[in-house]
Amino acid sequence: MQKHNFGAGPCVLPPSVLEEAAAAVRQLPGTGLSVLEISHRSPGFEEVMIGTERLVRELLNVPAGYSVLFLQGGASMQFCMVAMNFLQGSGKTAAYLDAGYFSVKAIKEAQLFGNVHVVASSKEQQYGHIPKGYDIPGDAAYFHCTSNNTIEGTEMFSFPETGVPLICDMSSDIFSRDVDINKFSLIYAGAQKNMGPAGMTLVIVKDALLDSIGHRLPAMLDYRVYRANNSMYNTPPVFAIYAAMLNLKWLKEKGGVQAIAQENLAKAQHLYDEIDRNPLFYASASRADRSLMNVTFRMHDASQDKKFLEFAQNNGMVGIRGYRTVGGFRASLYNGLPFSSVKALTDCMKVYAETGHAYLIPAY
Ligand code: PMP
Repeated sequence: MQKHNFGAGPCVLPPSVLEEAAAAVRQLPGTGLSVLEISHRSPGFEEVMIGTERLVRELLNVPAGYSVLFLQGGASMQFCMVAMNFLQGSGKTAAYLDAGYFSVKAIKEAQLFGNVHVVASSKEQQYGHIPKGYDIPGDAAYFHCTSNNTIEGTEMFSFPETGVPLICDMSSDIFSRDVDINKFSLIYAGAQKNMGPAGMTLVIVKDALLDSIGHRLPAMLDYRVYRANNSMYNTPPVFAIYAAMLNLKWLKEKGGVQAIAQENLAKAQHLYDEIDRNPLFYASASRADRSLMNVTFRMHDASQDKKFLEFAQNNGMVGIRGYRTVGGFRASLYNGLPFSSVKALTDCMKVYAETGHAYLIPAY
């Protein structure tokens, strides 16, 4: 039976990317070696680094004056690294928006390095919406937000005007839609959703912001060291970067971020329509902030959760159980997930509602 992978990350990647990556594990074209064996200082890999950076710049329309860096440690390492570089030693307070589980983690890490002011929080409403109408102090070191709350299923569709550097965790919606990079001073994202496999973290940072750092930091936690060494101060995650390059090439061939944004919208609309129509289900997030990447939903009768989950799993659905602290269901609709998978899920929901899960759907 075909599997439909709704996992929140690592997640589904296009079959052609997996095939190319698998072939390169056997032999990287032009080298006679496996991609797992080549030196990161070899000309073959230099081309991969340059090619991946070029694709990031082209797909996201990164303006001049920004560096594109490849790091490790996941988006979680960025929680502390941002504060170590731009809060510590600044004598200022950093402003944070608390819109979910990963904002909380970012805030906790930043508090280790200086004062943090939480401008607004939707915690009391179980993070079902993105807070709006808050003030960002004009003397803050920076303002930090999370563009897509992977667990709660909410997404920011506009970003506040800030008089201070805007720093954004875009782990779960980067490359899914067009964003104006000019608005941001730093964007970070773990690769394992729309960029490639786990193991690499993308950072896009304004050079002027890096130039403003006045204190010393451990090399591996200093953005300036990555910039000065083209992200090769130490051994980079060779395979993760190579596979990301293949995935970004795939995205470019599909028509880039604008084209995939249309597909992503159609997928999300199709699923939300079924959630809204089907009497058994309801959407967890408030309508205006519903994420196009992570669709969170529940059953009116939560005692049915286990039965529906089993039914869906028996029909090939993978990864739709909601996050352990949240419950319910979550379907992640990243770039690599085809519309046909979303259709398979809505068919499951329809058949379950109509038959009380009596029948498997033969088509899937
Ligand atoms: N931020 C967001 C929005 C995420 O979705 C995740 C992971 N799912 C993280 C941060 C943490 O990323 P990592 O596991 O790469 O540290």
